[in-house]
Amino acid sequence: MSETRFDNALERVLVVIAHPDDAEFWLGGTIARWTASGAEVSYLVLTDGEAGGFDPGVPRADIPRIRRAEQEAAAAVLGVSDIRFLGLREGSLLQPRGEPHAEVVRAIRRTRPQVVVTWSPEWNWQRFRSCHPDHLATGAVTLRAVYPDAGNRFAPTFLLEDAGLEAWTAEEIWLINSPHSNHYVDVTGTFEAKVRAVAVHRSQTAHYADLAGRLRGRIAPNAVPAGLPEGRLAEAFQVVSNR
Ligand SMILES: [Zn+2]
Repeated sequence: MSETRFDNALERVLVVIAHPDDAEFWLGGTIARWTASGAEVSYLVLTDGEAGGFDPGVPRADIPRIRRAEQEAAAAVLGVSDIRFLGLREGSLLQPRGEPHAEVVRAIRRTRPQVVVTWSPEWNWQRFRSCHPDHLATGAVTLRAVYPDAGNRFAPTFLLEDAGLEAWTAEEIWLINSPHSNHYVDVTGTFEAKVRAVAVHRSQTAHYADLAGRLRGRIAPNAVPAGLPEGRLAEAFQVVSNR
């Protein structure tokens, strides 16, 4: 299992995601480990995921409120309280030089993370149904914010209007759902917390008979490339250096 600079000694992380529940499904065990060791983890949730859910009895207009509340409660299970919602419309992220770009730059400068976690902007053909257009667009907009504008004090002036937000360079980007995973976090010890956090997203998961088994099945195969004994559970990332 390859090492990165921030396996230990991680102080601040920014997680930029497309929908409420992305963070818990994809790195809930890793976040639980980080917060347990004292790291501050912040979320920036770009859309309310208003096209999500499975129950036609729930009024569609209620979904954004339900999903924000679920997101706050699920993050609390993992020890995360700094959550900002941009409230963009699901499916509206495909103009990456517009408002989302400026907001992600601001979030990086506000939270000053060593590591930014986001979606891979690349198609992962092994997991096509995880390649929601919002996921790919979130990855693209976040990578363009990390470099160059967040770290460039001479970036376009519209990015500098917030007093006190100095330029900030995050040293690593950790991508989820990448076709080129190169780093694995052993989450065997925090898997139970992850299951509890994902289950809080009731509007998305209450119809699954065996949520824990489903989540286990998604990450159990990672033990092999992670070099862990069979039966251990690991979440996968592609770690990219921004140094
Ligand atoms: Zn999503």
